[in-house]
Amino acid sequence: MLGRKRPEPMLQSSDEAFSPQAVRTGAALRLTVSFMLVVVIAFLAVEGWRTWRDYRAAFASARDSVTNLARATAQHAEDTIRQVDVVTAALSERVEGDGLRNMDIPRIHKLLVQQSAIMPQLHGLFIYGPDGEWVVTDKEVTPEMANNADRDYFQYHRTHEDRNVRIGEVIRSRSTNDLIIPISRRLNNPDGSFAGVMLGTVKVSYFVDYYGDFKIDDKGALVLATRSGTILVRRPFVASVVGKSLLNSVIFKNFLPTSNQGVAEARAVIDDTERLYGYRALTTYPLVVEAGLSRESIIAPWRRDLLKTGIVLVFLITILVGFGLIVLSQLRYRMTMEKQIRSAHETMRDMALTDSLTGLGNRRRLDIALADQIRLARRQGSSLALIMLDVDYFKRYNDRYGHAAGDECLRAIAGAIQQTIKRPGDLAVRYGGEEFTVLLPNTDNSGAAQVAQQILESVRALNIEHADHPLGMVTASAGITTSQPAAEEVTPAMLIKAADAFLYLAKNTGRNRWCSAGLTPQ
Ligand code: GH3
Ligand code: MG
Ligand code: MG
Repeated sequence: MLGRKRPEPMLQSSDEAFSPQAVRTGAALRLTVSFMLVVVIAFLAVEGWRTWRDYRAAFASARDSVTNLARATAQHAEDTIRQVDVVTAALSERVEGDGLRNMDIPRIHKLLVQQSAIMPQLHGLFIYGPDGEWVVTDKEVTPEMANNADRDYFQYHRTHEDRNVRIGEVIRSRSTNDLIIPISRRLNNPDGSFAGVMLGTVKVSYFVDYYGDFKIDDKGALVLATRSGTILVRRPFVASVVGKSLLNSVIFKNFLPTSNQGVAEARAVIDDTERLYGYRALTTYPLVVEAGLSRESIIAPWRRDLLKTGIVLVFLITILVGFGLIVLSQLRYRMTMEKQIRSAHETMRDMALTDSLTGLGNRRRLDIALADQIRLARRQGSSLALIMLDVDYFKRYNDRYGHAAGDECLRAIAGAIQQTIKRPGDLAVRYGGEEFTVLLPNTDNSGAAQVAQQILESVRALNIEHADHPLGMVTASAGITTSQPAAEEVTPAMLIKAADAFLYLAKNTGRNRWCSAGLTPQ
């Protein structure tokens, strides 16, 4: 037994060969998912920002448009009214100078016709007497018995002394049935008493035509109203809207009281459409203009763009996710394969470290465990015991009962040994042939002797007949060695050699016993 050649361990003790690969595959999986997430989030963030910027730009440009529209329509209204203002002022001066009674009617009529002809906005010029009777107009025919004393502007001037021009609400002309805006001023006698009214009427259609020329969307709106909120003209033009009040609109209620011009988003009281309005109160006359573009028309191009971008984005993300899913499934497949290979490797390793006859560990397992346990015992300062067992007269057993019975006997002995050792760290292996080894970490000499004693007893307790044994039954002998790796130089070979030496002693001193340094079996 002494001096036997003991091969070095062949296999590694861990699955190191596979771990880094598994880690790499796991990392690649996480990296792929993260990459996909980052790309998708980046796409969404960039497109989201771009969309928001476009939305803001659409509104900024709409603000400019409605501001310009309001400015243009305000200027137009002011110019239109001012011309009438100037003409009526000049004519009033003339008429008052001559005195209404001494007026040269044919000459004044000619003058009115001339003025009316050069001002396209004018519907007519009229001079009424103190009782509302038509004195002279720019028309060729003056209706008999015509009287305008009932008109709102006439009653106003009769009862108010101020000489300013007055812009009235839209009325229907008695001479032509057109919708007109009356612009009137009071005529005085030299003593200051009421002499009549000078009236210039502006065609509503003049504004309608002008507003019609602007290129705004179908739902856009242009409004000319008095400062008191009454609509004079509106695009889109519907006669029934003329005269309606805007006093309850957001612009008249919230904005105009604090600022004469600006931009406001509001829902129209007339047609309930949401618009961005540019509004402006005229500086010279009590008039207000509003120019509105519908929210719908501002947003529509932006929304179309958003839809296109969205479709492209969904397409890109779908491709990306599809591609990512393919990569992920490849990685998952690879991980499963690696797992299978790993577990196959573990099974192979287990098989390589297991004795097929007895199911105990084999000599390779002992070699691995012994090296590990020596290191551990050295670190922990603990003692380590090793028992070497050998079946007595086993050659004779084989010879008498046959090899198969011998194998069965070895299996029974292995079972007895395995059942005797109790601690989780204890290890029993078949060392070779009919020899077994038991490694007992953290165990001193007397503890190891106890275990050896119990093993020998349990082998005997198997009570396997052995006719060629002096005792008539199968027994075993054991050699025990104990070491303190922290205190002495110990190698696996030294431990095995020492245990072997005591086994040799046990054999030589009668078998069916154990031998150990300094201890004698009872
Ligand atoms: P000792 O008491 O001195 O140990 O005598 P022994 O006969 O047991 O010792 P020896 O070394 O001379 O014989 C060992 C025998 O064990 C030889 C071989 O027939 C038998 N043997 C070794 N391995 C196996 C095995 O796997 N199965 C069987 N059935 N027998 C084995
Ligand atoms: Mg032997
Ligand atoms: Mg033997």
